[in-house]
Amino acid sequence: MKIICVGRNYAKHIEELKNDIPEEPVIFLKPESSRLVKGKPFFYPDYSQDIHYEAEVVVKIHKNGRYIQEEFALDYFDELTLGIDLTARDIQSRLKSKGLPWELSKAFDNSAVIGKFISVDEVQNVENLNFSLDKNGKQVQAGNTEMMLFSISKLISFVSKYFFLKRGDLIFTGTPAGVGPIAIGDEYIGKIEGKELLKLKIR
Ligand code: ZN
Repeated sequence: MKIICVGRNYAKHIEELKNDIPEEPVIFLKPESSRLVKGKPFFYPDYSQDIHYEAEVVVKIHKNGRYIQEEFALDYFDELTLGIDLTARDIQSRLKSKGLPWELSKAFDNSAVIGKFISVDEVQNVENLNFSLDKNGKQVQAGNTEMMLFSISKLISFVSKYFFLKRGDLIFTGTPAGVGPIAIGDEYIGKIEGKELLKLKIR
């Protein structure tokens, strides 16, 4: 199983991090070991002082595919959820400024927080999905998949040219504006169309 992630996929989040609008999707991977076991808290590691939450819609591939055409891309997943792409922003900024790969800031243990999957049949239109993240009872992020620069179909089509998409692979589809630092004691709740799918405690 691999976890494929997309950076810079919402215009307002690109603005808040002062990045350029990409011409093609910005892709990175998280290893299987980055997956936080469901229901477990995230323990703040000592190598970062600035870990951020990034709430994202996550789709689960259920059919193997290469060179998937955009028009058929939605057939390649049948479940989705909300995830948090935990990011060590201090490490990422340091690596970015040197033009180095991002893995240390993105692929560390337990950095992929994944909610409870629901069937795509439970939502009306995956390309027009409202999702949000609450931190300690207050909403901090809200987005709609319609606001993506590269739609879910486009992302699947694009990444499947480079990576053989296999059953069980996960795609984190990018975060909207409102990212911010996590702190020990925080509690997060992630929702899609108002349904609570993710709960996370920081210890
Ligand atoms: Zn992200």
